[in-house]
Amino acid sequence: MRALVSALLAIAGVAMVAAPAPPAAARQAAARPADTGQRVILVTLDGARVEEVFGGLDPAVLASTLGPKARLEDQPAYKRFWAPTPEARRAKLMPFLWTDLLRDRGSIAGNRNLGSVVALSNRRRFSYPGYAEMLLGRPLDAEITSNDLKPSPRQTVLEYVRTTLGLDATQVAVFASWDVFNGIGEQTPGRLTINAGFEALAAAPDAAAQRLSDAQFDTPTPWDSVRHDYYTFRLAMDHLQRHRPRVLYLALGETDDWAHDGRYDRVLEAFARTDAYLAELWRWIEAQPDYRGRTHLLITTDHGRGPSPATWRDHGEQVDGAERTWMAVASPTMGRRGEWRDHAPLTNAQVAATLLAWLGLDRRAYAADAMPPLPGVTGR
Ligand SMILES: [Zn+2]
Repeated sequence: MRALVSALLAIAGVAMVAAPAPPAAARQAAARPADTGQRVILVTLDGARVEEVFGGLDPAVLASTLGPKARLEDQPAYKRFWAPTPEARRAKLMPFLWTDLLRDRGSIAGNRNLGSVVALSNRRRFSYPGYAEMLLGRPLDAEITSNDLKPSPRQTVLEYVRTTLGLDATQVAVFASWDVFNGIGEQTPGRLTINAGFEALAAAPDAAAQRLSDAQFDTPTPWDSVRHDYYTFRLAMDHLQRHRPRVLYLALGETDDWAHDGRYDRVLEAFARTDAYLAELWRWIEAQPDYRGRTHLLITTDHGRGPSPATWRDHGEQVDGAERTWMAVASPTMGRRGEWRDHAPLTNAQVAATLLAWLGLDRRAYAADAMPPLPGVTGR
């Protein structure tokens, strides 16, 4: 009887595989939110102060790093980055950000002189809690108490995007200068593509990528756990070009490490190099039909640092001012340009929901207590 029905159905063009209970994968696909095809790139500059982002070179800090006989005006960093006004200084430090991206494409919050406050939600004011608050959508002060390399205590928003949209591991990628991102990025090791710290490419796709991967070990930094941002950026661009991920997280580190070492000149150079990386990244986005007009960029930091010559090297619970952060966004669905003014305070914990909204996903389905997206970010 079954054979007869099958034969009749086959004649009628009805497949018997349309069984009453569809396979699990099909059920999951049916329950999946519609994939809007949008793309997100998150960039962080570790410990990048609001003072430099909005005011460029801080002459009091530079002067504090000099010996008693040295003249400020003679310093290469001064000659390169000094200008009479904060607006002119910041444009010298980060020309792409200030004279291109924020003029034509996006906006930045965090300039307290304009009534624009961005601050951490966590009270610890060091890196793991800062990154975790962005990737988890809320602070977890009781659970995250150190910078130890440990898996995230909860599923990160990056893991959620991958599983919810049914993407493969190349499609949600993290490239980081600091090795602790092997923990920060994911609760379940291996769920994402993560390359962090001095880490070789798992499988270099060609000779050029292999040379790049090898070179990071021949060019040590003063820090065991942080490689040069150059490699992080180049490896990320290679992945972007080759795998065309839906979500890329580029986590740069030198703005923090040179500051801890008291090398303010190198801090300024790191800001300027990062600005050139952002310019290259943006030019690449604009040149790709599958990225142009559908890529949302968010640039921020994991914490501030002390505001004065006595405190700028440090951050942490005891350092007032280290809670001050900033956030730049360039999104085809946001019309705001330049600097935000006179608005309700924003927090880094809003990053997770902002990324989700851009991808057409609901933050409450990710975490009931996740903070809302930035105002003006429209979701589905
Ligand atoms: Zn630090």
